Amino acid sequence: MPTQQAATAALDPDPPIRRSTRLANALLGSDSLQRRTLALLGLAALVTATVVVLLLYAASIGVADLNQVSVLTVMFVLLICGFYAVIRSGLNQRFADPTLAMPQTIMAQTLIGAAYAITGPVHGATVIMLSLVMVFGMFSLRPLAVRHACIYTVSLMGVVMYCCAQYQPLHYPARQEIFNFALTAIVMLAISQLSGQLSDMRTRLKTQKIALEQALAHIKEMAARDELTGLPNRRRMMTLLQEHATRYARGGPRFYVCIIDLDHFKNINDSYGHAAGDAVLRAFATQAQVVLRTTDMIGRWGGEEFLLLLPASAPGDPTLGVARLRDSLAAMPAIQSLPEVRVRFSAGFARYEEGEPIDQAIERADRALYAAKSAGRNRSVVL
Ligand code: GH3
Ligand code: MG
Ligand code: MG
Repeated sequence: MPTQQAATAALDPDPPIRRSTRLANALLGSDSLQRRTLALLGLAALVTATVVVLLLYAASIGVADLNQVSVLTVMFVLLICGFYAVIRSGLNQRFADPTLAMPQTIMAQTLIGAAYAITGPVHGATVIMLSLVMVFGMFSLRPLAVRHACIYTVSLMGVVMYCCAQYQPLHYPARQEIFNFALTAIVMLAISQLSGQLSDMRTRLKTQKIALEQALAHIKEMAARDELTGLPNRRRMMTLLQEHATRYARGGPRFYVCIIDLDHFKNINDSYGHAAGDAVLRAFATQAQVVLRTTDMIGRWGGEEFLLLLPASAPGDPTLGVARLRDSLAAMPAIQSLPEVRVRFSAGFARYEEGEPIDQAIERADRALYAAKSAGRNRSVVL
């Protein structure tokens, strides 16, 4: 009955999802790095549990001594609990490698070596566990550490196998032990080698990731800039306008939208060529950035039109900055090669009104610009 279930869920102050999250937090903590370290320990515990099952089976069929198996099982459990306590208490963070991957690997290999020695006729099965531990190690240790762990494993197993062949030749015949030793050494050598390749692969991937991130940042930057002037382009200016409108709605500063259109720009192109026109556009952009306030944002709106976003944090005439720009352009030639050319422009201002679509403010600024052109150009009009 769904309605009854829903009612029960609504009444339950401690829904199951929250309970499980809390249980996970109590067991694993909330720090994501520490959680990853504990996940690694979880894998080690899984390997350990497999070895313990194998040991218990060997004891149950009478091929291993139950006392020895019990001692080793207790040691396994104690070690896992010990690592858990060290990680949960945060003590592991004092070590160079807080994942404790190396000590965990060494402990695991040592205990598997011991299991090898007490499992009599079924001891061959434990050899595979040595490889399994090292495969995990490959993903959490540096190649040099993997090599050291492999050398340790081969040396340890050399001693264990020699002693077993010496003292329990019935279950550990020397010829079979030599074979097992050779097998262990070959597998460890291969793992050592592979871990180097794995590390190279990881480094390559990391480098590629960084290069991709840089390329993406570059592409984003290019997509937001006008190629000719280096100013933010129309798309970027639209984003900025939207952001400012949202900010204003949330109590941020009010702002003006201003559209600037160069006067009789076509004449410059016609008289001096398109390249000179381009140079004038670039010079205008540079001068505007120099003269306007750092809080004012200017972008190329298209052709010989520019859009300004002027935050109006203090009351006052919004056209002052633009008037300064007008004066500075009148005072000197825009480009040195054309000393007779002075850039003039008309500007239309509109104050953004709360809640209106940004296009509406742009349209008002456009109308103000048209009014400035109609009134004789080289002036500003506020609507
Ligand atoms: P008005 O005072 O009425 O604005 O006159 P105007 O000549 O500036 O306006 P009009 O719209 O007639 O001409 C604009 C010119 O701007 C025409 C176009 O070729 C030129 N233009 C647009 N984009 C560029 C550009 O990137 N480089 C150059 N060199 N010229 C451009
Ligand atoms: Mg125009
Ligand atoms: Mg023009």
